[in-house]
Amino acid sequence: MTPNSNETMIDVVVIGAGLTGLTTAHYLNKFNKKCIVLEKQIQVGGVIQSIEENGFLYENGPNTGVIGNTTVVELFEELAGKCELEVGGENVKKRFILKNGKWEHLPQGLKDAVSTPLFSMKDKFRILGEPFRPAGKNPHENLASFVKRRMGKSFLNYAIDPFIIGVYAGDPNYLIPKYALPKLYDLEQKYGSLIGGSFRKGFQKKTEEEKKVSKKVFSCVDGLGSLTKALHQSVGFENVILGADNITVQPAESGYIITYQNANGENCTIKANKVISTIGAHALAKTLPFIEKSAMSKMDSLLYTKVIEFALGWNTWPGIELDGFGGLIPSLEKRDILGVLYMSSLFTNRAPEGGALLSIFMGGVRRQDLIQLGDAEITHIVEKECKELLGLNTFSPDLFKIIRHNWAIPQYGVESGERFSTIAQLEKQYPGLQIGGNLRNGIGMADRIKQAKELAQNAL
Ligand SMILES: Cc1cc2nc3c(=O)[nH]c(=O)nc-3n(C[C@H](O)[C@H](O)[C@H](O)COP(=O)(O)OP(=O)(O)OC[C@H]3O[C@@H](n4cnc5c(N)ncnc54)[C@H](O)[C@@H]3O)c2cc1C
Repeated sequence: MTPNSNETMIDVVVIGAGLTGLTTAHYLNKFNKKCIVLEKQIQVGGVIQSIEENGFLYENGPNTGVIGNTTVVELFEELAGKCELEVGGENVKKRFILKNGKWEHLPQGLKDAVSTPLFSMKDKFRILGEPFRPAGKNPHENLASFVKRRMGKSFLNYAIDPFIIGVYAGDPNYLIPKYALPKLYDLEQKYGSLIGGSFRKGFQKKTEEEKKVSKKVFSCVDGLGSLTKALHQSVGFENVILGADNITVQPAESGYIITYQNANGENCTIKANKVISTIGAHALAKTLPFIEKSAMSKMDSLLYTKVIEFALGWNTWPGIELDGFGGLIPSLEKRDILGVLYMSSLFTNRAPEGGALLSIFMGGVRRQDLIQLGDAEITHIVEKECKELLGLNTFSPDLFKIIRHNWAIPQYGVESGERFSTIAQLEKQYPGLQIGGNLRNGIGMADRIKQAKELAQNAL
């Protein structure tokens, strides 16, 4: 393929070589469709980047995924030999929530739930009545109100709020279950109850493929970056153009014309029958300039959280016992960090023997301002939080990295319905165009992988 040539007609151009774009291209290849992936950066992976340094293996973006659907299972089977799945240890079930400055176990079962200090006695009784409460009627009810109505306030404050911080770096008052947690919303709508619905779903017959969906937490033996590297290899290095700047798509008489500047600054053009975008909503207006402003505003108004991520490593760990997944901090606790993941406790080879690797998160929708602080100021905050929450007397990690994400996680708020219908309308109006990526179909890695296969199938 000659990127400077107008002669070749490519089947599909995929924009963005993050997990979604690469997985889409992997499936297009599998379905024998000729595709080219265009990526702005000079490396693949998007937010997924794993780095090995001085005996530590840390992540710059996501730390763990969930084997949450059949496509994730299938993808790892297809990439066998190129990247090795690593499932979190048994201690992954031990999760901690901070209450009144103390880490408490997140209850695992009914017995724990009865004795936990996280929830009020009133709400423990209230939960027993959950299956008998009527289903909500407002599809735009926010998550905070939804949970308070069904489970009670303490359940919202000390289970759902920290969960949402862990997944979305978000706020339950902003997120709408119908869009942000559709499975939860459907439990109420279809079965009338979250507890009853989960129970009944658990008894549904599963296919052999569905049985492999373990819901286990995963990474890869060499970090999550080995997944995107394996996808890069599977797609073919020659089919991924890195450093492609100012990508612009225009509809043509037949298909689309895509222009960009390559890594040498030369202008290039590709003709393609179909275009699949997997970039963030905020980058769409420049890339798809032919879309009317009113339609674009329904997409690029999507709120993304700003998150600061810290990778911290110790050759010898001097703090509290790190046996478990990690701890999350409810907003009521008014701390300056969102939570901490015990990466070296979950996966092998993350830190030297006897040492520790932690990932700490700061910012999120409630603290978008923190990203503007300088390195010295945020380091000071992390030091204070580590001393108070992780039992450190002194703060001298052997690895200390600050990773700033200005467009970390999209927040599926009340406007999401309009965004989804606008995308559906545009895809109808412009045959061959698909607007994928994390602006719809979920924010987690498992969602991205599932969407990618669907994008590839739709392009057939
Ligand atoms: C800090 C953080 C922590 C996370 N933690 C988890 C977690 O624990 N578990 C989980 O399941 N998920 C997590 N996620 C979410 C998960 O990482 C993402 O859903 C997934 O990696 C997104 O992949 P993507 O390909 O859709 O987007 P991206 O990774 O953002 O990739 C988009 C690609 O498009 C490129 N691009 C952008 N604009 C242009 C343009 N104009 N032209 C060309 N290319 C362009 C970008 O450079 C990038 O390579 C986390 C995300 C972040 C940021």
